[in-house]
Amino acid sequence: MTAAQAFRMVIGDRLVDAASGQTFDVVEPHAGTTVAHVPQGGAVDVDRAVEAAQRAFDGDWSRMAASERGRLMLRFAQVVRDHEEELAQLESRQIGKPISGARWEVAQVAKVLEFYAGGTTKIHGSTIPVTRPGFDFTLREPIGVVGLIVPWNFPIMMAAWKIGPALAAGNTAILKPASYSPLTALRLGELALEAGLPAGVLNVITGPGPVVGGGLAAHAGIGKIAFTGETTTGQEIMRTAAGTIKKVSLELGGKSPNIVFADADLEKMASTSPYAVFDNCGQDCCARSRILVERSVHEQVVELFAKATQAVKVGDPADPATEVGPLVSFRQRARVEEYVASGLSEGASLVTGGVRPSDPSLANGAYLMPAVFDGMRTEMRISREEIFGPVVGIIPFDTEEEALRLANDSPYGLSGSIWSRDMGKAMRAVKALRSGVISVNCNNSVHVEAPFGGYKQSGIGRELGMEALELYTEVKNVFVDIS
Ligand code: NAD
Repeated sequence: MTAAQAFRMVIGDRLVDAASGQTFDVVEPHAGTTVAHVPQGGAVDVDRAVEAAQRAFDGDWSRMAASERGRLMLRFAQVVRDHEEELAQLESRQIGKPISGARWEVAQVAKVLEFYAGGTTKIHGSTIPVTRPGFDFTLREPIGVVGLIVPWNFPIMMAAWKIGPALAAGNTAILKPASYSPLTALRLGELALEAGLPAGVLNVITGPGPVVGGGLAAHAGIGKIAFTGETTTGQEIMRTAAGTIKKVSLELGGKSPNIVFADADLEKMASTSPYAVFDNCGQDCCARSRILVERSVHEQVVELFAKATQAVKVGDPADPATEVGPLVSFRQRARVEEYVASGLSEGASLVTGGVRPSDPSLANGAYLMPAVFDGMRTEMRISREEIFGPVVGIIPFDTEEEALRLANDSPYGLSGSIWSRDMGKAMRAVKALRSGVISVNCNNSVHVEAPFGGYKQSGIGRELGMEALELYTEVKNVFVDIS
């Protein structure tokens, strides 16, 4: 893609412009140039998409044999696989994600669709021994039209996490990508049609969050909103969805701890954990952005971690060797720089990074070197707020009890890591942590087959695994009198 390309929305089986004819630009953060023009949808486009999705729901999709739905989803997965490189290039370009990370992300899309294609035939109710004479059983049925609103940090993967279970359960969907990252979502909608998904099963509309996302949340024709994004936007969506008592699943922010006990494999922790916070330039809801380390190994961990951070390769996202690219936008970089300044003014000490790179080839992009703060305290803003950028802070602790208290001292509860060779201690920490996704002696959070999601203000509901499928169904209870 060289000259700015025009993209269109996917409604029914047609590629369409916004009813208003208006567009907005997508700007790549590596060089600040416009790469695409995208329809600026509005309320009329939301209505058009809901009508198309309702028609598809009333048609074959919700009624066809589950195995047939699964077969079509497998075909969709294959078409995505056939276009993996094209999608990865688009993803990398629109948000500045290093191409290696973009390839990994796109590969997850086909895997998720394949998992849920298999899930179509595993959705079932149960038989319940009630006291009256008769048979009581449940049916799991699709909700109807669902609205899927996704962020810009893992745009196509977040879309697949929702499309997979939504369609497998027999719903039809309207996907609304973030305005920084609409290109892979729009292409995914086109590929769904190419794969033979019936018209209207997957619609993709673009435009301002409050208008298009808010329009979906308010629409009486939509039965559920599945949202990933900021906690404040999630609150707004819940308020709007309350007007029509919609079901709501929310995957929100995080401020996850990385707890390091003195008996841990410190070399492994320090060499792998920079990726647990700086991957995707820190724009990751699971980022382990608070390192809690036992005081006896505090200095050693600071030194090892800082050295590993300095070795992270920051550069052009198109270079396969690049590990950290630019932030998504200049605005986001300004926000993160403001956090770095606040950490310094509140008394934390910057061990490395937090400045723009000296490499002149990166001067036009939204780059920032990964920052490590030591001497962070829990009351500081950099310890309490989700920065969503390449910034980590280190806090020493003296006892196991103190470590767990500090770890849970956050309004969020998404993920976290625990490092110890003492499995009893590690398992006590697993039980005590108020988080939905925990890793022991590693930082792996995401498995297609296993549930993912947050406690507290990190969300409602779960994605992935069979848990997510159930959240896209209604339960119908039936009693048959045999007296
Ligand atoms: P965001 O909340 O700004 O936007 C997310 C989506 O919501 C976008 O599509 C946006 O256009 C739309 N939107 C904005 N205002 C809206 C409104 N009033 N009504 C309806 N929709 C609206 O989030 P972002 O900046 O795109 O993404 C970053 C955030 O996402 C971070 O907080 C991060 O932690 C979170 N996140 C969470 C997870 C998770 O699984 N828990 C995963 C990835 C990202």
